[in-house]
Formats: sequence, structure tokens, C-alpha cells
Amino acid sequence: MDSLEKILKRCVLCPRMCRVNRSFGERGFCRLDAGMAIHSALPHYGEEPPLSGSGGAGTIFFSSCNLRCLYCQNVQISHSPTGRPVTAEELAGIMLDLEARGCHNVEPVTPTPHLAGIMAALRTARERGLRVPFVFNCGGYERDKIIRLLDGTVDIYLPDFKYGLAVEGNRLSGIPDYPHHALASLREMVRQVGDGLETENGIARRGVLVRHLVLPGRIDNSLAVLKTIRERISPAVPLSLMAQYTPIPAVAGDPLLGRRVTKGEYERVVNAALDLGFEEIHTQQVDERALNPDFARDEPFAWESIGGGDDA
Ligand code: SF4
Repeated sequence: MDSLEKILKRCVLCPRMCRVNRSFGERGFCRLDAGMAIHSALPHYGEEPPLSGSGGAGTIFFSSCNLRCLYCQNVQISHSPTGRPVTAEELAGIMLDLEARGCHNVEPVTPTPHLAGIMAALRTARERGLRVPFVFNCGGYERDKIIRLLDGTVDIYLPDFKYGLAVEGNRLSGIPDYPHHALASLREMVRQVGDGLETENGIARRGVLVRHLVLPGRIDNSLAVLKTIRERISPAVPLSLMAQYTPIPAVAGDPLLGRRVTKGEYERVVNAALDLGFEEIHTQQVDERALNPDFARDEPFAWESIGGGDDA
């Protein structure tokens, strides 16, 4: 993926289009130079069942993000570029180690700003025998042109579709064009891997799974996401509707973001997805547990069992 390396010299890896020379040490919105930094790599048992299975998803948490959502559940690592620097060679070893530990896949979390290094690492890991699927777990704010460059290398796309209403993307993440880019990039993902999720013995092998975190008091935004995917792509696209939103301290005083989603709100979204004819919907229980990871701990996901729970 030499072209990804070249892009770093005038970075347009995501729709922010900062055009900084990261190879020369310049930094754009994500505050990352050309090197990769990770926070942790571990089997994660709380992803949706086809990803976590019994051996866990092979998650690799990268530092920083090309979004900076006010309510981000991973704020400890996503709003800062600091982390453990890794080379592509080391990252390939980490991928192979996750596979050796029994993980069903390797899943970089928020790969977009680190894409050049991740793809170099994946190539090395494949040459050394990595067999499990490569999962692209991203925030949905992607450029379809960049996603096109990944054709043939990504097995499973796991994008968020956070906002169906541009006004909410602007208010909560400072980007008015989120729905446009989320839709265009999802279309390209579906073109590459189809609009379903192929499994083998219940474990995902290839395809797409779209995540949507239901936010309190913003049900219209969730309904707009569902409508957009249904009308502009396909009701066959598998959905993961997440109820786990938990306020972080930065939004604790906000009249809407300062509370959890209610059962009634969540059920409205799930019922709307069913009414729209979505064929595969992963749901979660709405409960009172605090569900934010704590990356200061060795095991950030103490509540692991919540997962992608039930199927609607
Ligand atoms: S990856 Fe970072 S530097 Fe590149 S365009 Fe996106 S935010 Fe800007």
C-alpha cells in the first residue's frame, strides 16, 4: 500500500483533509505524526457474538482518532495521541500473538489515521501465516476513496453510523458532513464485501456489521440512520444497535447527554429497525451498569458480558 504511505505526506486519509506532511512530523486534527501508537492489544469478549465468539475478538486499541465526539466512551485514549509507539514489524507480531492466543480475528480500533502502518503490518503478518479475518473497526467518518484502496485486504468492515442528521454530527462531533461520508464509505464497504455477514460455526468470516450507539434524547437521529441505510443501501445490512451509552464526566451535567438511554427510547429504535425490514439486528440489554471501559486498568472491560447480546 505504497499509496497510503504517499498520502501521509499530504494527509487526506479522512474527510478532515488536513493536508499536513505527517512524514515530516507535522500533525493535523488527529495530532498524530507518521508513527503508530497503541494503547493495548487484548482478547475482547464484549463485542457482538460473531466477533467475540468464545476466544475473543483480537482488539488492538490505537491512540487518538479522527473524530473527537463530546461523549466518547474511549475518551482516555481517543482524545490524545500518546500511547506505546509500535513499528509495522512489531504490530505484525502483535496480530500473530492475538491469533495464537485463540482470538477469532484481529481488530484495530479506529485504524483510520494509522492506516499506512496497519496495512504494512497486516501484509507482513499474512506473509508469516496470519489466517484469521482482519476487521476494520472505525467511526464511520471515512473517505470512500481511501476505503477503495483497502479492497481485497479487509475481511469484515465494522463501521459506526453515528449520525443520520447532519445537525447532530455538527453539534456532538463538530462535523456537518458526517452522514454524507458515512453513507458513501459504507456503500464502498458493501461493494467490496457484500451487504451481509458470513459466518462459520457462528464466527464472522467476511462482510459488514454496522454499529449505531443510541444516544439519549436523540431518537430522531437514530431513526434517520436506519432510514438512510434502508433506503440508500439495503435492509440486508446487519445492524448492531447499542444501548450501552454511559455519560463520561465531561457531559455529566448535560440535560440529555448526562443520562443513560431509557428502555422506551431504545425499544423505539429497535422496533423501527424491525418495521423497516432489517433482517439481522444485534441488540443489548438496557440496564443500570456503568459501561465505559477504563483504560487505566489492565482489563479495561470489567463488564465484558454485556456484548452485543441478543438478536431481535
Ligand atoms: S488522518 Fe489525521 S491528519 Fe490525516 S486528514 Fe485525518 S485528522 Fe487530518
